[in-house]
Amino acid sequence: MFETAISNFTTKNNFSDFKLKAIFFDMDGVLFDSMKYHAQSWTKAMSDVGITFSEYESYMNEGRTGHSTIDLAFNRDYGRDATEEEKQEIYRNKSRYFESHGKSPIMPYANDLLQKVKNQGLQIFLVTGSGQATLLDGLQVHFPNIFRKERMVTAFDVTQGKPHPEPYLQALKKSGFSRTEVAVVENAPLGVESAKAAGLFVIAVNTGPLDEKVLWESGADIVLDSMKELFEKWEEFVLNRNK
Ligand code: MG
Repeated sequence: MFETAISNFTTKNNFSDFKLKAIFFDMDGVLFDSMKYHAQSWTKAMSDVGITFSEYESYMNEGRTGHSTIDLAFNRDYGRDATEEEKQEIYRNKSRYFESHGKSPIMPYANDLLQKVKNQGLQIFLVTGSGQATLLDGLQVHFPNIFRKERMVTAFDVTQGKPHPEPYLQALKKSGFSRTEVAVVENAPLGVESAKAAGLFVIAVNTGPLDEKVLWESGADIVLDSMKELFEKWEEFVLNRNK
């Protein structure tokens, strides 16, 4: 399955080769099983200001910056952008509700996969739209010696969040690698769109409630059911590609 996906990718882009040097990981829904808490928190914070925003919509919009998500909902329900004060208040409430859930569990097999990737000598980057302090701090606690500050792109580094390509373009620039040396692991439709707009090879892991069709339609090169499946098939993917 990987062979076909990679050959489609290289042919389409006119690349003569695909040799892995780095893996770009998204965070929520990939490393942390945190999306259900984000979804519940968004629904609650929006309903505080009279906006109906379903948990399903949170999954569909995952990866957007908080402010962009709020504008989207405001435009739909009130026909205008939210004011700066409204954005700050809603995002503050959303963050508070999220933090009240306590620590998000690690996604099963995330640690095993990261260790494997590290042992294979591949560089690991984090590319997230999140600015949620507990998750970012939690990275060092749950995945010690895996992530380095200079190999991270978070909500604080970008002006345009996913689905805009900026987060992944920044990561590519930071890495110094080319598009033929990088693969992305994403779970969200807009995350996939962002990475594809940056011209990268994207493995989607469908860890949430969405139909996998949504991830294919966002342009994913391959769609798997879980991080467990990715962990188990990893060798098949990197075979002869990490030299
Ligand atoms: Mg995600």
